[in-house]
Amino acid sequence: MDKATGFHTRNILDEDNIVGVAQLCNKIDGNFDYFDEQVANAFSIYCGISIMHSLMYKRIQDAQARSKLSNELMTYHMKVSNQDVADITTCPDPHDEPNIGKFTFTPRKILHKETPCYILLMMQHLNFLEHFRIKKETLIKFILYVKKGYRDLPYHNWLHAFSVSHFAFLCIKNFQLIEKGYMTKLEALAYFISCMCHDIDHRGTTNFVSAAIK
Ligand SMILES: [Zn+2]
Repeated sequence: MDKATGFHTRNILDEDNIVGVAQLCNKIDGNFDYFDEQVANAFSIYCGISIMHSLMYKRIQDAQARSKLSNELMTYHMKVSNQDVADITTCPDPHDEPNIGKFTFTPRKILHKETPCYILLMMQHLNFLEHFRIKKETLIKFILYVKKGYRDLPYHNWLHAFSVSHFAFLCIKNFQLIEKGYMTKLEALAYFISCMCHDIDHRGTTNFVSAAIK
């Protein structure tokens, strides 16, 4: 520090603990004594308390921001009616896209309103419903909830989540991830669901909450 600042240190009295380091340099006359040490110690305790308080205040602010965000998310768009579910169960489209299981297929070709049907289809194809005894209506409601959780952004929207989920489907199916023992059926389900949900409520910019957590 002396080299960098041009300051000349003659003697040092310091005290450190978890929250920080306090250092006193160059007593005006003489060397540091026991009394100086006691005063410095008391001083550093007060500094420590102040720092602790401001850290705690910051944590409270972050927690408040998180809860505000989740409240906003809940009230903003979380409503799926039985009619919405029925529209999917009775969708007249045959959903017979022949190349859906190929890496060359572009998931964005699927009509936006039919994406929940295709999510259901992929999950049926992977045998998730039967294996985990998931009720079809419950799953459709869940898919529609997730879809509603996405905002109308240029990129991190539901269609992005749909493409990522489709890619997970392709990997599980074509690389036979379950059959070859790379993952269990439960892990495959978690993988697929995570892909569906991974950008939920994305605001199109660096997420404030995740930035705060970092
Ligand atoms: Zn993403």
